[in-house]
Amino acid sequence: MPQDFHKRYLRRLPAVERVLQEKGFQELEERFPREVLLRSVREVLEGRRKIILQAASEEELQQLDISPPSLAFEALQLVREKMDYNLKPVLNATGVVLHTNLGRAPLAPQAVKAIGEVGRHFSNLEFSLKSGKRTTRHEHVEELLCWLTGAEDALVVNNNAGAVFLALNTAAFGREVIVSRGELVEIGGSFRIPEVMARSGARLVEVGTTNKCYLRDYRDAVTEHTALMLKVHTSNYRVLGFTAEVDPASLVRLAHNNNLPVMEDLGSGVLLDLTLYGLPREPMVSDSIAAGVDLVTFSGDKLLGGPQAGIIVGEQRYVRQIKRNQMARALRVDKLTLAALEATLRLYLDERTALKDIPVLNMLTSPAEDIKARAQRVAEELQSRLGGSFRINIFTEKARVGGGSLPLASLPSFQVGLEHQDVKSEVLASRLRMADPPVVPRVRENRVLLDMRTVRENEVNMLLDAVAAVLKGGAGYNEDRHLV
Ligand SMILES: *Cc1c(COP(=O)(O)O)cnc(C)c1O
Repeated sequence: MPQDFHKRYLRRLPAVERVLQEKGFQELEERFPREVLLRSVREVLEGRRKIILQAASEEELQQLDISPPSLAFEALQLVREKMDYNLKPVLNATGVVLHTNLGRAPLAPQAVKAIGEVGRHFSNLEFSLKSGKRTTRHEHVEELLCWLTGAEDALVVNNNAGAVFLALNTAAFGREVIVSRGELVEIGGSFRIPEVMARSGARLVEVGTTNKCYLRDYRDAVTEHTALMLKVHTSNYRVLGFTAEVDPASLVRLAHNNNLPVMEDLGSGVLLDLTLYGLPREPMVSDSIAAGVDLVTFSGDKLLGGPQAGIIVGEQRYVRQIKRNQMARALRVDKLTLAALEATLRLYLDERTALKDIPVLNMLTSPAEDIKARAQRVAEELQSRLGGSFRINIFTEKARVGGGSLPLASLPSFQVGLEHQDVKSEVLASRLRMADPPVVPRVRENRVLLDMRTVRENEVNMLLDAVAAVLKGGAGYNEDRHLV
């Protein structure tokens, strides 16, 4: 029950209209929707009301600032937050190329352009310009995917988890799928092969042990209920040491002798040979198709470097069945994704273009000396802009591929380390995350590290301006009271 002092304080709170009359707001009335201003003021007042009602005694409230100018100041901060986009670009200075929390693959400029154009106008998404009749959205990337992988047919869905689900649901509903125990992968905490299989209606038959699985293990598990043999690429871990796994070609031979198809979930879906650029071997989609695998699934936004998508390629009779599955509609891919995917796939028609224009491939294959030169340039520039209170040095930690791809690859990289004698590294990192655009660094003991493998050349000036704006004069001491 509110007591007298509660009521007294509540009555003292200014009205919404009173706060809106403060000077700062008058100017904003023209620039921002009134609804946003009103909501912001109401939220601030509601916060004060809560504090008042929760107070156990009047003494607790004596310091409470309820003057219209302070309330207006806080409300203005809220206005700024509400008018800013929630989802926005950030500079990834973590050195993790495929950072799932930072949106995985940044898109090639050609893909971004395609999204803009297809998004702005109507498009021939499901309409044949030749015949004037209705067609399917699958057709736009089918030929490219078949070309680049050697497959007969292709289908794109929302993401690879969806692709695995849909393929299993189509090919093995109510029947058994044989898979090695060493390949029961969990990706990113929420995608577990056994659970996705269960949801797809397929029954999992685990064979072998965690570190060893032989062809005879698969052979012995075949029954009249078997629908499919599944291989899963252990994309985010490796079983090392005393191990044995069955290669796709041998599994295909066994399966086909038993009139069974083989499916392989590749995860990353590499379309070109990364070993040529000093990276560890990652199975290419075309290798699996050449080995006779009937259905291959992979992501659009991992090593392929395109938009989020799940790609299914393989034998026409199996892919056709998947296209006819009613669930395909629930997982279908959006036109903007298709536009970006088609543009990205086209870049692969010329390997040099792909390496130059697809950001993921470019970051993975950039020579160490380029990264080093960038780090030195950024270090010098920041030293001159931030002044002597920062100690700035170059570090040489490894960068990582991330995104559940190439877990053993460590990429040579260079970081700009920023250290301030009075400011903790966590505070520096938090200031950087508030920059415009936000910068996400690595934090190491008493310094932050800006990894230059994941900051591209055309982002360097943005990075310099953003870092200088939030760290100049120390960090956190030059609180800017001019808000909007
Ligand atoms: C990443 C991955 C998935 C999930 O792919 P999404 O596109 O993130 O849905 C499934 N299987 C494997 C082996 C993977 O590496």
